[in-house]
Amino acid sequence: MLAVNSIGNLLEELRELLGEERATVNDTVRDLHGRDESYHAVRPSDLVVFPESTEEVAAVVKAAARHRIPIVPFGLGSSLEGHVIPYDGGITIDFSLMNQILEIHEDDFLVRVQPGVTRTQLNKELKKYGLFFSVDPGADATLGGMAATNASGTTTVKYGVMRDQVRDLEVVLADGTVIHTGSLAAKSASGLHLNGLFVGSEGTLGCFTELTLRVYGIPEQIAAARASFPTIDAAVTAVVSIQQAGIPISRVELVDEPSMQQVNRHAGTGYPVKPTLFLEFSGNEAGLRQDIEFTEEIVSDLGCDNLEFEMDQEGMNRLWEARHHLAYSYIHSHPGRKMMVTDVCVPISELAGAVHHARETVDNMGLIGGITGHVGDGNFHIILMIDMNNPDEVRKSDELNEAIVSYALDRNGTCTGEHGVGVGKLKYQAREHGAALGVMETIKRALDPENLMNPGKLFNPPKEEN
Ligand SMILES: Cc1cc2nc3c(=O)[nH]c(=O)nc-3n(C[C@H](O)[C@H](O)[C@H](O)COP(=O)(O)OP(=O)(O)OC[C@H]3O[C@@H](n4cnc5c(N)ncnc54)[C@H](O)[C@@H]3O)c2cc1C
Repeated sequence: MLAVNSIGNLLEELRELLGEERATVNDTVRDLHGRDESYHAVRPSDLVVFPESTEEVAAVVKAAARHRIPIVPFGLGSSLEGHVIPYDGGITIDFSLMNQILEIHEDDFLVRVQPGVTRTQLNKELKKYGLFFSVDPGADATLGGMAATNASGTTTVKYGVMRDQVRDLEVVLADGTVIHTGSLAAKSASGLHLNGLFVGSEGTLGCFTELTLRVYGIPEQIAAARASFPTIDAAVTAVVSIQQAGIPISRVELVDEPSMQQVNRHAGTGYPVKPTLFLEFSGNEAGLRQDIEFTEEIVSDLGCDNLEFEMDQEGMNRLWEARHHLAYSYIHSHPGRKMMVTDVCVPISELAGAVHHARETVDNMGLIGGITGHVGDGNFHIILMIDMNNPDEVRKSDELNEAIVSYALDRNGTCTGEHGVGVGKLKYQAREHGAALGVMETIKRALDPENLMNPGKLFNPPKEEN
């Protein structure tokens, strides 16, 4: 806990800069900024600020540096590994008032936005230009938060992750310096790849105050489908076969049997309760027809007995909403329990084994949970609903997390494909990265020597010097 008088002095200074409403110690606001969407313990923020410009962010960061008080950048708070919880206290910088779409470069397929713009806000505007932004993590997250977690989602199999979309970031560093990490050029051989470094840095290297992002033309035709399989292994093998056949699928999502039950209950649908793939094809009419025919052959060879297409917008929206609301349907169906989502990513050739192992482990432990995921990338999630008052269940869910992560790391996968490290996956960093973790820590120390930017996330606290 921070000394009350250091926060008090800083509050006075920040109120002079931002006014009373935009620098607050209101209990409700502090509490809202002390949690995310996960099971990690809540810790209210000490002080929350709402800047409106890069200059204001830089001034807040400089003031915090002078008082040696930590800073936690905050987008929507939808992260799942405790990323925004200020365990070391300090100021939360909430970017919700920096929510302007600054420029749409139609001809360059680029947009420049402030970090508090959400992905649906951006897509609503881009639609007027026949364009769309591809990364879709389900939650209506902010683009700043999505860049900071290197978010990805249902469309990543075709368009890539957040890191692939970022052309430039404006970043306020820990000492208040403002830098740009890239340019508008489609490629560059000049200097180190700072976009790559800052994307995924989870607020530990600086605050993003502007982002320039790639956007895409809305495809001529889109078709969505649902394919049910007799077993989860058959569904996963179908994904691998579709990928290996080179079909340019734009989404392929796995939803296991218990999760299909949740989908039906929450969305009021009557989809078969079997391991299911949600698929999307996009492109021109001729190409689409070919892709669909080829996919039909592959899935029927693997025992798919129910392949249903949704061609109209309403049906497609219903299907993807059902998929996107899955996590919330688990939450609503299990009052009193907390959601723990673990997310790993493996090479596609290891996917079938990994999903099979995960399902078996959940069942053997007697836990409540489902498997779902962006399986086209080798990325899947286990959603567990835990009774946090039952120590046996909490212990088992930790053991399950360990087992799933170990399985992925043993096969040269990663402990998180998209949710990030936060505090939840810190303990796996040394095993996953080995000596490379030391390189990352050196970069962190160089950019933030006082360890004030979102301390305790992504990196373990620095060791005390003797
Ligand atoms: C139901 C559900 C489904 C989800 N599905 C997915 C999914 O499919 N794929 C996926 O990738 N994630 C998923 N997530 C996790 C989450 O939505 C993403 O991590 C998202 O990118 C977080 O964005 P946010 O705006 O909520 O950021 P926050 O949670 O507010 O912050 C996340 C991190 O970014 C940092 N940050 C925020 N803004 C800035 C900024 N301007 N500058 C620097 N750092 C900043 C924060 O300090 C923190 O470390 C899901 C979450 C939920 C609840």
